[in-house]
Amino acid sequence: MSRSIAVLTSGMDFNQTSLAVLAAAALLAGAPFVASQTPAPSNPPSIMERLDAMTGGGKSAWTRQQLSTMEHLREAAMKDPYALDELRHLTCNIGPRLSGSAQAQAAVDYVAGEMRSLGAEVTLEKAMVPHWVRGVERAEIVNWPGQTPGTTQKVVLTALGGSVATPADGITADVVVVDNWQQLRALPPGAVTGKILLFNHRFDKELAAQGDGLNAYVGGVVYRGAGPIAAASAGAVAVLVRSVGGADFRLPHTGMTEYAPGVPKIPAAAVTAEDAELLKDLTSQGPVKLHLTLTPQAMPDAQSYNVVADWKGTEHPEQVVVVSGHLDSWDLGTGAIDDGAGVVVSMQAIHLLKELGIHPRRTVRFVAWMSEEEGSEGAAAYMIDHKEEFADHSGAIESDLGADHPVGIYYAGKSELGQWLRPVAEVLDSIGAGTLVSAPETGEDIAGLTEKGVPSFAPVQDSRFYFNYHHTAADTFDKVDPKHLNENAAVMTVLAYALADSAEPSPR
Ligand SMILES: [Zn+2]
Repeated sequence: MSRSIAVLTSGMDFNQTSLAVLAAAALLAGAPFVASQTPAPSNPPSIMERLDAMTGGGKSAWTRQQLSTMEHLREAAMKDPYALDELRHLTCNIGPRLSGSAQAQAAVDYVAGEMRSLGAEVTLEKAMVPHWVRGVERAEIVNWPGQTPGTTQKVVLTALGGSVATPADGITADVVVVDNWQQLRALPPGAVTGKILLFNHRFDKELAAQGDGLNAYVGGVVYRGAGPIAAASAGAVAVLVRSVGGADFRLPHTGMTEYAPGVPKIPAAAVTAEDAELLKDLTSQGPVKLHLTLTPQAMPDAQSYNVVADWKGTEHPEQVVVVSGHLDSWDLGTGAIDDGAGVVVSMQAIHLLKELGIHPRRTVRFVAWMSEEEGSEGAAAYMIDHKEEFADHSGAIESDLGADHPVGIYYAGKSELGQWLRPVAEVLDSIGAGTLVSAPETGEDIAGLTEKGVPSFAPVQDSRFYFNYHHTAADTFDKVDPKHLNENAAVMTVLAYALADSAEPSPR
C-alpha cells in the first residue's frame, strides 16, 4: 500500500480520506489533482492499485494496521517521560561514565536492571576496556613578548584521552604554532625539536551553522587523533591541539588521541579556541615559553560490559534488530548529549513495546555499548561474540549525534532501502523527521555491522549546536530539550518496530 494512507486516515471519514489520499498521491507523482464530479468509469482500479501505480508500483512492506501501530508508537514516544527520566538518572545521579570507572559499572548495572524490569532478556556481554584516569591539567605561559615581570598567563586546557603524563612538576618549553599539516611540513628541520607544538586548526563554524556539524568535526578531529604522532615525529616534547568544537566560551574539548609504535609517546592536551588564538598571536611576536603539567594515568584494562536486552520476536526470534547508543562518556561533563541521550531513546523503544503490548515478528535488541569513546572495545567484542549471526541481523540503529531535533533517518546499505523506508518516513513526517538520507556509515559502534552488510540506520539530528558542548564540561542534562529527546525516541522506536515487524527483512 502507499506511503500516505496511514497518516492521512487518522481522524477522517472514508470520503475525506480517499480525496486526501489521491491528492497526496497525485502530488507525489507530480500530477495535478482535481476533485472531479464526473462518475467513475466501470471496473475502476481500486484505490490501492491506483496509489501503487502513482507511486511507482512499489508495495509497502507494512500493512495499514502496522502503519497505525507506528503512529501509536510515535504519539506515545512524544508524550512519555521515560526517556527523560532515565537520562536524568544516568547523568545527574550516576554522573560521568568514563570507560573502566566505577560510574560506568554503576550505569551497566542500572540499565541492565531497568531492562530486566521491562521483561527483556538481559545479558551482560564482557569487553576489556581502557581505564584511563585524568589527573592534574594545568598550563601557564611563563615568557612572552611584552610580559610584565613576575607574571604568568593561564592557558585553559584538558588532557586528551589516553594521553601520557608530564613529570609531576611539569615541563617548560617554547611553543611552536602551526595551523595545519602543510605548515608543519614547511618548517625547517629541527624547528620543533624539544618544543611544544600547537595544532591550531579552526573548527569550521560556518559548515556547522549550515547543519553539517559532523563534517566540521571530522575536519578537525584528525589533528586531535594524529597530532601526537606527527608532533613527536618532528621532535616535539608535548603537543597541544586546538579544541575541536564550535563554541567560544573558553571550554576545552577532550577526546581520544593516538600513539604509534616506534614513535615517542608525548603528553597531549586540547586548549580552548581562545587560548589557541592567544598562543598564535604571541608566538607571531616572539618567543613564548609554556609550563605544562598533565598527570593522567593509564590503569590496567578493566573488565566491563555491553548491556544487551532482547525483546524477543514472536515469529523469528533469531532475527535481530539492534537499537543502540553508547553508555560510556567522557569525564568532564555528565555525558548527556554524548551519549546518554542515545542510550535512553533506545531504552524507550523497549519500554514502549512493553507499554503498548507490542511483540514484533523479530527480536528488538537494545544494546548499550561500552567504551565507544576510547576505542569501541564493546563493539569489537560484539563483532567477535556474534560473528555467526550477522546474516540474521535484519538491521542496526545507533543514535550518537546528540539529542537535538531529528529531521529524518540516515540509512547505509542497499540503495533500495530509501524507497523501502518511505512509509516509515511518512509516519515520522508529522514530527518533522521524514527525510531519508543515504550515508556511508551510521554510527561508530555499528560500523562493523554495516561493513558485514547489515542495513544500518541513525537519526539525522540537527548538528548545529552539538559540537558546542561535545566532550566538554558543559555536556550536561540541562542541554537536552525534552521535546527533541522525545522526537528522537519516536524515530528510534518507530524505526525499530518497522524493521522488526516487516513481512520480509529489510533489503540487503
Ligand atoms: Zn558519542
